[in-house]
Amino acid sequence: MKKEVSKKTSKHVYFFGGNKADGDSKMKNLLGGKGANLAEMVNIGIPVPPGFTITTEVCTLYNAEGEQKVIELIKKEVEDNLHKVEKEAGAYFGDSQNPLLLSVRSGARASMPGMMDTVLNLGLNEATVAGLIKKSGDERFVWDSYRRFIQMYGDVVLGMKPASKEDIDPFEEIMEHLKSEKGIESDKDLTTKDLKTLVTRFKKAVKESTGHDFPEDPWAQLWGSVMAVFNSWSNDRAVYYRKMHDIPDEWGTAVNVQAMVYGNMGDNSATGVAFTRDAATGENIFVGEYLINAQGEDVVAGIRTPQQITIEGSHRWAKLSNISEEERAAKYPSLEETMPKAYKQLFDYQKKLEHHYRDMQDLEFTIQDGRLWILQTRNGKRTGAAMVKIAMDMMRQKKISQKDALLRIEPNKLDELLHPVFDADALSKAKVISKGLPASPGAATGQIVFFAEDAEAMKAQGKDVILVRIETSPEDLRGMNVARGILTARGGMTSHAAVVARGMGKCCVSGAGSIVIDYKNRTMTANNKKYKQGDFISLNGSTGEVYEGRVLTKDPELSGDFGELMKLAEKFTRMHVRTNADNPKDSRIAREFGAKGIGLTRTEHMFFEGDRIKVMREMILASDEKGRRKALDKLLPFQREDFEGIFEAMHDLPVTVRLLDPPLHEFVPQEPKNQKEMAEEMGITVEQVKEKVAELHELNPMLGHRGCRLGNTYPEISEMQTRAIIEAALNLKAKGIKTYPEIMIPLIGTLKELRYQEDIVRNTAEKIFAERNDRIAYMVGTMIEVPRAALTADLMAESAEFFSFGTNDLTQMTFGYSRDDSPKFLPIYLEKGLLKHDPFQILDREGVGQLVEMGVKKGRQTKKNLKVGICGEHGGEPNSIEFCHLVGMDYVSCSPYRVPIARLAAAQAAIKEKEAKTTKNKK
Ligand code: PEP
Ligand code: MG
Repeated sequence: MKKEVSKKTSKHVYFFGGNKADGDSKMKNLLGGKGANLAEMVNIGIPVPPGFTITTEVCTLYNAEGEQKVIELIKKEVEDNLHKVEKEAGAYFGDSQNPLLLSVRSGARASMPGMMDTVLNLGLNEATVAGLIKKSGDERFVWDSYRRFIQMYGDVVLGMKPASKEDIDPFEEIMEHLKSEKGIESDKDLTTKDLKTLVTRFKKAVKESTGHDFPEDPWAQLWGSVMAVFNSWSNDRAVYYRKMHDIPDEWGTAVNVQAMVYGNMGDNSATGVAFTRDAATGENIFVGEYLINAQGEDVVAGIRTPQQITIEGSHRWAKLSNISEEERAAKYPSLEETMPKAYKQLFDYQKKLEHHYRDMQDLEFTIQDGRLWILQTRNGKRTGAAMVKIAMDMMRQKKISQKDALLRIEPNKLDELLHPVFDADALSKAKVISKGLPASPGAATGQIVFFAEDAEAMKAQGKDVILVRIETSPEDLRGMNVARGILTARGGMTSHAAVVARGMGKCCVSGAGSIVIDYKNRTMTANNKKYKQGDFISLNGSTGEVYEGRVLTKDPELSGDFGELMKLAEKFTRMHVRTNADNPKDSRIAREFGAKGIGLTRTEHMFFEGDRIKVMREMILASDEKGRRKALDKLLPFQREDFEGIFEAMHDLPVTVRLLDPPLHEFVPQEPKNQKEMAEEMGITVEQVKEKVAELHELNPMLGHRGCRLGNTYPEISEMQTRAIIEAALNLKAKGIKTYPEIMIPLIGTLKELRYQEDIVRNTAEKIFAERNDRIAYMVGTMIEVPRAALTADLMAESAEFFSFGTNDLTQMTFGYSRDDSPKFLPIYLEKGLLKHDPFQILDREGVGQLVEMGVKKGRQTKKNLKVGICGEHGGEPNSIEFCHLVGMDYVSCSPYRVPIARLAAAQAAIKEKEAKTTKNKK
């Protein structure tokens, strides 16, 4: 521990450059992902502009103690490292003859693309501008860099941003003004004189806005930028992104200060972004985009149309964009064609990087006057489909092991593959109104919305929305998150919209250039027709097509790689996955996804359909047992038929059926209008209905007359349900279909309660066996969802043949948080950090987990081979599934569409546990 502290305080700045770096890729926690990878690239011989990384610990210190403390602590180290950079770059910071310019970028432990701030071209002032002109011989380039620097610094460090979401950026406004004065359309047409004018006007705007002159001193610029990057760790969008991706606030960001290289030093310079494999489909092809004579931000900003890196990619792009070969070759040639030598190097480096990191890389590069530099590499964000394909391809290529392939898959991301696709028939009839790039695959239908806040508001009303933007920026993240799909008028395959959408697994069409968007009036025009906010459109993210109206969707067919992945999961898993299903359709879907049985059938769901609710109400209204039995006799055939359907769909596999659970008031209407309807239907007075409703009213229904308390007060209900289950199984047996019913008693708190129900079930079953002169095997078990049941699980196991943890109720009762009322305060608890996660979503290992662990242990003390599973919502959540594995459960049970996710999570839990044991043994 002592060593850790001294390590913490001794070194705060890590150099990288030439062929030697202080850090390496294993130091992500300290250097951030970007810093660690820059160091690693230097160490393996990739050309990286020299620089240094200020550690994440300094950010934490900054957040706690502020700017002055940080400067005091790291000033000397920063100065020493900057000298090293100067030496390596052969240029000097603030030098009027041979100035060194810097970039200052964020870089957290986990990638948070675009969420934090960056300052480029740092070090420029009146003196260094002159020096750089002499050095580069390109006056226009230098003034352009200077105006970009003031603009960026003004925005990031001095906080000069648009006044509202509909307003233009203050610097853009000045620029637009000048352009219209001069009658120029494109930034490219600004002359050196114009750029000088811009610098003067920008500086004036800074003075007016901040009351101070724009800083001339390069050191003041550097410290300002470093602090701004630290600050950006806490900006709204970064905080939101962290919440979305479960990144702790305490991590902090590192700051990377690096010598600038320029892709905008003329036509022998370029800049771009590349992926070692296709991030949308996972195809094993090198893809990317670049721009000649441009800076990095130009490629992602969507202002100019980026060109493809490879010839093959360029041809594909031209076809998708309806561009002829002549036009492509003349206006949009690939890097492979324009700069074959740099291309060849880039191709070799990307191979080397993918090989080294054994994963798909997303890299940024710049070519300055013919010389290639790699600015960044990281594991590329990808769609769910690409994630599966890349992992399986790499495994088949023997680049990674089977276990690694499984561990590479983010279980929740598999969800994307299980989403609906467009119905081919509906699609053939749909009207195409525009076409853009297939930036992120999938099908999406929804109502048009133009702003993130509006998207959130519409989503909150239960509407599906498509976020339509000219281009997106990190400000739009919230809107993108709630949208079904994203459509942009500008931007390529590496635009912000495309990259973020792929990361989120959202359908996205980018660069649909024929669409005209009017933010002020909230309309978009496509194909000569105006569409308003709220109108429906549909997007095909796999082809780039945009359709009018809603297009019907259907369930996906799961591809070969997906099937193989599931087989592989089977090989390593210990736990089985079952499903929670109440009807044959869901049972079949789950079975196709690999469910090994049903872990929970909630029988009450069957009582709401059609005429059954009437009979159910008749039962509830009955004043004595006789009346109840009469109604229950009518329910019996319905229930038996339902069970036959489910058992048949799940033939040869176990099916856990839970006896009636919810409070009876849920079956009677609360609204006067519906009470009147019920009175008419049942031939009684409204008063009588009202009386019964009042009688059933409970102050705390979730802790009231429900679960086994129903069966213990009205044993005839349990009798009827048992009869329906056993008779259904016998009927199927007669047809040669094997069933394994497991009858489950809910909400047990004492052994006596359980025994009482067990007796009813067993006596009824024996009676039926005698009537039929036939029998089947069945089990009687219990849910563990009342803390007392977990505490006395050794006693429960004297009766129960199996346990299933109902962690929804167990969480409710352990925390004392009502399941129904918690939405009133849980979001605030999460916001304030009083809770890290919603315990109804992620099982609380610390508290509820103790009861679960104790329940499993005590149960097995009594019955060594007691079958144990979980059927609360946590059974489909990867982190909770890992916990279930660790405490030794036999299975988890979840909703049908989560079965594949749970299968993978169960396999990962088994692999991780083994790996942890091996490491421990080695130690
Ligand atoms: C539970 O409590 O976890 C459970 C599965 O039962 P229900 O959600 O139906 O109360
Ligand atoms: Mg429950």
